[in-house]
Amino acid sequence: MNHLSIDLHSHSIASDGSLSPTELVRRAHAQGVDVLALTDHDGTGGLGEAGQVAKEIGLKLVPGVEISVSWNGVTFHIVGLNIDPAHAGLQAGLSALRDFRVERAEEISRRLARHGIEGALEGAKAHATGQIIGRGHFGRFLVEQGHAKDMRKVFKKFLVHNRPGYVPGEWATLVDALSWIKGSGGQAVIAHPARYRLSATRLRQFIQEFKDAGGDGLEVVSGSHSAGDVQGMAQHTKRFELLASSGSDYHGPEQPWVELGRLPELPASCTPIWFDWDLPEQRI
Ligand code: AMP
Ligand code: MN
Ligand code: MN
Ligand code: MN
Repeated sequence: MNHLSIDLHSHSIASDGSLSPTELVRRAHAQGVDVLALTDHDGTGGLGEAGQVAKEIGLKLVPGVEISVSWNGVTFHIVGLNIDPAHAGLQAGLSALRDFRVERAEEISRRLARHGIEGALEGAKAHATGQIIGRGHFGRFLVEQGHAKDMRKVFKKFLVHNRPGYVPGEWATLVDALSWIKGSGGQAVIAHPARYRLSATRLRQFIQEFKDAGGDGLEVVSGSHSAGDVQGMAQHTKRFELLASSGSDYHGPEQPWVELGRLPELPASCTPIWFDWDLPEQRI
């Protein structure tokens, strides 16, 4: 018996992915994905289209979102799964985050201009055809203008701490993000928990606060986790009695090292976040 192929973290052009929701769902289907969560940053604008296409082709689409959170000066991402996009409190919170993104984009552009790079706001906006503007859009503009070879290099050179195009985030509080997700009926998961530059002690402190505020799970398997990261995060789910999620964090075909649904299985010690979901029959 084959297990279902489940991928609970992906992006479309509604945020900083490069595929439309339709293209994303079709690609997931072609890759053999049975259950896909669309989790765009700070917005749910792609879910309607994705849900419709998923229904047509017989793929289960999990409505999701990836919320930007600030905690003690560090930016975290919290994925909400099975949220209700019609929930007013969730939408009000996401809308405020998108407003901040617009201000931040203007400041990123001013800083890049001081560094001799003109027209970055307009250039980034040309790529930001969805609901939000983010660093990914500036990255594409800078690559296009020949300032770096690819997205990985462009982030390193311009868009991270101590680089000319970096502006610190002022995102949601952990408690607010969890209240929006839980209030809309969803489950909350810490995205790519091994990717934050934190000491082990601080990460455990964050996970504890997340758990205390009603958090449900950790993304044990992520497109950006090594085998060692997976084992480490599996242990954290045990320690904190959290569920385990799995998602590629797919952003588009120009990052060919990540593919939809191409994920290792969760370690057997983990309880999957989907253990009590109403899922399609396993494939025989
Ligand atoms: P933002 O939420 O606008 O600050 O942008 C965060 C997004 O930037 C992430 O979701 C990734 O899509 C992208 N990103 C962050 N770091 C990198 C990196 N080192 N290389 C490529 N993309 C990155
Ligand atoms: Mn992104
Ligand atoms: Mn993320
Ligand atoms: Mn993501």
